[in-house]
Amino acid sequence: MPVRAVLWDLDDTLFDYTGSDRTGALRHFRAEGLLPAHGPAHGDEEALERWRAAMETEFARFLAGEVGFLDHRRARARTFLGTPLLSDADADAWFGRYIAHYEASWVLFPDSAPVLEALAPLVRQAVLSNASTANQERKLDVLGIRGAFETVLCADELGYAKPATEAFHAACKALGLTPGEVVYVGDKLDIDALGARDAGLTAVWLDRAGTGEEAGEELPPGVRRIAGLAELPELLREVTGFGAPSTIR
Ligand SMILES: [Mg+2]
Repeated sequence: MPVRAVLWDLDDTLFDYTGSDRTGALRHFRAEGLLPAHGPAHGDEEALERWRAAMETEFARFLAGEVGFLDHRRARARTFLGTPLLSDADADAWFGRYIAHYEASWVLFPDSAPVLEALAPLVRQAVLSNASTANQERKLDVLGIRGAFETVLCADELGYAKPATEAFHAACKALGLTPGEVVYVGDKLDIDALGARDAGLTAVWLDRAGTGEEAGEELPPGVRRIAGLAELPELLREVTGFGAPSTIR
């Protein structure tokens, strides 16, 4: 089956979410007086760990439809600060100051723009993300790569979040393609690769940290692993015949 589109995860796949969040959160904590402005950084990792734990818990509740996007942000601020009674207005203001530091720290991975450019003449490209459409659209604009994508599909507007098969199928339908014509690339083995595979797409797991190799575990059947995006064009050529002129578009 010819590959007609590459569907992308955004956070921690093309966009260095973890690095941007780390830099932004530390700047914010320092500005708020929660960490020493200068000097030894021994409190950094502990603070980041609590920050990420609050994010994971509350973002999961947002994805499950238990809270709205704004309330999930407020809950992250209250949980991290240990101030359950913080008012909505104060939580919004605190989170807003974090956002300013975070956005000033936004950065792509070095291999992202080159691979998007390399694939542009060969295949259609789109984003499928579990975050909110408005956020991801703005992020892509700021990062200067919005033009690489035909469309940006997010859980809030699709009504389904990865790894649900419906999310992948809705994205394929939006592109007017069958799952067999679409490759999905993402950094999470379960949410991205297994979800995509189970929905009938060609699943590529971007394992930047090399966790799969270190664990020495066999890859789940039907999942391809790459350690960096520079490997993607060659992988697509191998597994799908992609790149042969007769199969393109
Ligand atoms: Mg991701």
